[in-house]
Amino acid sequence: MLSQCGEAVLTSLPLVSPEDAVLAACAVALADGDVVTDPDRLPTYQRDRSTGTPAGEPIAVVFPRTTEQVSAVMKAAYEHRVPVVPRGAGSGLTGGSNALDGSLILCVERMRDVLLVDQINGYVETQPGIFNTELRDHVAKHGMWYAPDPASKDFCSIGGNVNTNAGGLCCVKYGVTRDAVLGLEVVLADGRITQLGRRTVKGVAGYDLTGMMVGSEGTFGIVTMARLRLRPIPAPATTVVAVFADISHAGQAAADIMLATTPSMLEVMDRASITAVENWRPMGLDTSAEALLLIQIDTPGDAGNADATLVQEICARAGAAEVYQSEDPAEAEMLLGARRMIIPALEAQGDWLLDDVAVPRSELARCMREFQEIAERNDVLIATFGHAGDGNLHPTIVTPRGDSAAAERAMKAFGEILDVGLACGGSITGEHGVGSLKQHALFQELDEPSRDLHVRIKDAWDPRGILNPGKSLPRW
Ligand SMILES: Cc1cc2nc3c(=O)[nH]c(=O)nc-3n(C[C@H](O)[C@H](O)[C@H](O)COP(=O)(O)OP(=O)(O)OC[C@H]3O[C@@H](n4cnc5c(N)ncnc54)[C@H](O)[C@@H]3O)c2cc1C
Repeated sequence: MLSQCGEAVLTSLPLVSPEDAVLAACAVALADGDVVTDPDRLPTYQRDRSTGTPAGEPIAVVFPRTTEQVSAVMKAAYEHRVPVVPRGAGSGLTGGSNALDGSLILCVERMRDVLLVDQINGYVETQPGIFNTELRDHVAKHGMWYAPDPASKDFCSIGGNVNTNAGGLCCVKYGVTRDAVLGLEVVLADGRITQLGRRTVKGVAGYDLTGMMVGSEGTFGIVTMARLRLRPIPAPATTVVAVFADISHAGQAAADIMLATTPSMLEVMDRASITAVENWRPMGLDTSAEALLLIQIDTPGDAGNADATLVQEICARAGAAEVYQSEDPAEAEMLLGARRMIIPALEAQGDWLLDDVAVPRSELARCMREFQEIAERNDVLIATFGHAGDGNLHPTIVTPRGDSAAAERAMKAFGEILDVGLACGGSITGEHGVGSLKQHALFQELDEPSRDLHVRIKDAWDPRGILNPGKSLPRW
């Protein structure tokens, strides 16, 4: 083009921002209604169930339905360097699926098909968005059982379970999500699709990239299919309840039980947890107890009966005020329901901050006592519950809603709980992950060479740093 005086001028082409370019690519690749930019709908997908974690403003939420669509989204995001936050059902407790400013939320909730149940070889292949309970129900129709059972199983996705390496109530006997993952289909940061892992019982070809993906909190790739190990349905369980007047006796009993036998569940609830549930949904729980142990044994026949008797003896020896065996399946279900309700019950009581330390079982009693001391020192309520058989405790700090001074004391108590966990040879997180909540504590837990490896491994999976950037890595 020439100017009026005949000089050549540069024509400025209309500029398309990286965000607009990615949205345009998503609109082409995805079905109508599967790209959402409506500011009224975005907040639903902006954060998970954690408290005390930051959440930014996303540009859009996309809902792919196929692996190819995920691949198309990632190719565009990679080309234009737009950050992507993978999201399952948003039940996480560390800010892992919280939005970042300018990010695209890639939510897999419309990818919920079970693709294959292979009974002979004992596995299921599923899309990632299906809820844990839905998958369990599906495979049960084929006479099979999927073991990992987070307390959130009715509202968390399999993809989220894989990416947090979720634990659960029966993991004490049957292992955590990692133990169930045989293989994964993953869309890499640049949009390439890779099949990781195996179908066979054994297989050690190459580095264990499947294992590396498990617990990577959406920072390595998008899981679009999980191949999960199934088991035969276990025998109905016998439930033993032990009531304690001293929480550290409950910790001791849990450690002793695990030395003597293998229960299929060993959960603890302290008085604050029992009271919170009872206030929220009254069901006749004994709120005068200092702590309850809920134990299940699913070993069939005489061996199971002998184990149940042994567990009762151990609890009595450790100082239980009352021990009984529940023969009533409805009562057992009610007690399990109470255990699963603790987090919503505490949520209803005020502002809450949940810890997730994993401690050696030998230190359970000491840690539980120390959590109580932390509560007193900081003038906050701490309700402790969790998977005692795994040494995985959830001391949860509850403060009056909106009380900023109490919130500050809660943060201090939160840090002190992590310090107790580390000081006794434990870990800052047993199952919920790091997200954006525990990055400083992760820095403390890892030594320098390990921190360096973390950064370089992340770089190998995600060279442009677009996958859930900033999350889950150690930070000082
Ligand atoms: C009441 C309650 C009880 C709970 N009980 C337990 C428990 O017993 N055990 C336990 O382990 N957890 C528990 N949790 C925590 C939570 O449910 C688990 O962490 C769960 O695995 C998260 O699944 P989600 O689908 O909600 O994932 P989200 O919260 O959506 O995401 C979790 C992480 O996974 C990533 N992600 C999700 N899907 C994908 C994908 N397809 N590809 C790549 N990355 C992905 C996200 O980026 C994020 O980093 C509980 C939570 C609540 C609210």
